[in-house]
Amino acid sequence: MTAEDKVNLLGMPRQALADFFRGLGEEPFRARQTLDWIYRAGVADFAAMTNLSKTLRGRLGEVAEIRPPPLRVVDEAPDGVVKWLAETRDGQAVETVLIPDADQDAAQSRNTLCISSQVGCALDCSFCATGKQGFGGNLSRAEIVGQAWQASRELAALGRRRGVTNVVFMGMGEPLLNFEAVLDAVDVLQDHCAFGISKRRVTVSTAGVVPRIYDLAERSDCALAVSLHAARDDLRDELVPINRKHPIAELLAACRHYLNRLGDRRSVTFEYTLIDGVNDAPEDARDLARLLRDLRCKVNLIPFNPFPDDGRGYRRPVASRVRAFQEALRDGGASVLLRATRGDRIKAACGQLTGRVRDRTRRRARWAAAREIAAREIAA
Ligand code: SAH
Repeated sequence: MTAEDKVNLLGMPRQALADFFRGLGEEPFRARQTLDWIYRAGVADFAAMTNLSKTLRGRLGEVAEIRPPPLRVVDEAPDGVVKWLAETRDGQAVETVLIPDADQDAAQSRNTLCISSQVGCALDCSFCATGKQGFGGNLSRAEIVGQAWQASRELAALGRRRGVTNVVFMGMGEPLLNFEAVLDAVDVLQDHCAFGISKRRVTVSTAGVVPRIYDLAERSDCALAVSLHAARDDLRDELVPINRKHPIAELLAACRHYLNRLGDRRSVTFEYTLIDGVNDAPEDARDLARLLRDLRCKVNLIPFNPFPDDGRGYRRPVASRVRAFQEALRDGGASVLLRATRGDRIKAACGQLTGRVRDRTRRRARWAAAREIAAREIAA
């Protein structure tokens, strides 16, 4: 058996893992034990899994593996934000960003991990750097979960008190267009035998793939974020092209459906990137508040993060304009949160992720180039 034929157990949900062990003639409870080793102990080597029999460990080594995507470049910004570049199985690059709460000693401090679900993105939102690079393929569940696995190990190695406490699918790609792999990843992130992150702390963010929001409601109870960015279809058509296919009314109906399925006191988060002179007038805020009036939701305002060659000349609004928007929304009855633009010094803020290196031919040169770009960005 070659390495290519081995089953990668990373990212495999507990149910599938139990089936895998059954297939080996083993008891399904081996799944729990293995999950414990992989995710709690951070172990990738079957030989170290000492509560499995020696024979089973040997067999696992022959047929299976625990293989995360290798991390190539690590940048750390002065504000504690860390960006990793992970290499996919076909030699492309995706980014993962860790956003720690400023006060790491506080009992409730969080380490939020922003993970990627695809290489690039097919949706081409007008203000997003990832969209500008086009679509380079879906990540496997091992590549998605592997980002969190690697980050947890790094946090432990850095001696940080807490591991990953929150995961948001707000890195590269549209998670609902890589549906099965993302669902498997959500399962593993939430499973108390694996990462054990609560359902409210795993957030799938979508630009509005409406049919898949209904599918998600059938299959998951994770938190949902929707990238709205405009309260009118004519404007949203321009900013988020998938709106032409699934306009705002359809999108909000899907959100309502999702909330109804979740029951209890859950809410949807709407992300709204504020772009100077485009969607940031007080009038836009009033329209938005009116639109969301009867929905249990929070609005997350993200001042636009610039990136090279955006082509449209978009700018971040000045702070007073952001505040005015926020106040107009609040006056309209919405619950609003202004997201700090952390990570922008290492190009790790929302919408700035590109994976950078696209040349598929010369791997070594490519990674060297990525390191150089990272060094330049830190120095800038
Ligand atoms: N495709 C998913 C996941 C990407 S999330 C989605 O659209 O929700 C990335 C978040 O960052 C989205 O809310 C996106 O709209 C926002 N964003 C993208 N580019 C940005 C930029 N240049 N500045 C600020 N926010 C941006």
